[in-house]
Amino acid sequence: MVELKTDTSIDAMYEAGQVVARGLTAVREAADVGVSLRELDEIAHDVLREAGATSPFLGYRPSFASTPFPAVICASVNDAIVHGIPTTYRLRDGDLVSVDFGAQLNGWAGDSAISFTVGRPRPADLRLIETAERALAAGIEAAVVGNRIGDIAHAIGTVCRTAGYGLMEDYGGHGIGRRMHEDPPVPNEGRPGRGLPLRRGMVLAIEPMLIAGGTDSYRTAPDGWTLCTTDGSRAAHVEHTVAITDEGPRILTQR
Ligand code: MG
Ligand code: MG
Repeated sequence: MVELKTDTSIDAMYEAGQVVARGLTAVREAADVGVSLRELDEIAHDVLREAGATSPFLGYRPSFASTPFPAVICASVNDAIVHGIPTTYRLRDGDLVSVDFGAQLNGWAGDSAISFTVGRPRPADLRLIETAERALAAGIEAAVVGNRIGDIAHAIGTVCRTAGYGLMEDYGGHGIGRRMHEDPPVPNEGRPGRGLPLRRGMVLAIEPMLIAGGTDSYRTAPDGWTLCTTDGSRAAHVEHTVAITDEGPRILTQR
């Protein structure tokens, strides 16, 4: 069931979204060659504590997981696409990092992700990240009353496929509200004019996941969580929580 949010609820979700935005900004600023993923997790955890917020990631255990998620961020490096566990791994020159972060504040959830490079970037990585951001922007632009879910999916998919990248099969965005994952699913590829009509008060997490090598397949790493490309190519993942309003899309996790 898709729950429509009131304007007051959307304002409350914006507050949760801004905690997420602050955490990602802090992580981005701290990330550098030699910094460990666990240190980045601790920085994000501090932002949650200061805001009086909790983590929807920590202890999360969906049906596919054999262990609860042990951290407040997902940190996915190079060929890791999403759900990377922050380990003691220290970032190296030229790494491509995707950080996914969520917050729960006053009963409402926010969810957002960024991709960036550390040290001297590879031009191919910058192009991949730029395309992911453009796909996200196109998806958000399509998140308007009168459109359908398929219009968002089509907008994202078109940007990715035109650039020659793969899209992680089976994974995409989702509704969000009191819980991080709600209906409806928001696929990263689809047919325009199809699917659920978009209505004022819907809040969606829109999140393209791009695979540089052009395939759509992924594998689960031995840790049971991290999803990696099967061809060893690099991946990017960006995400915003977006409310559909009469004035157009409102990005609740805007940094
Ligand atoms: Mg996320
Ligand atoms: Mg999400």
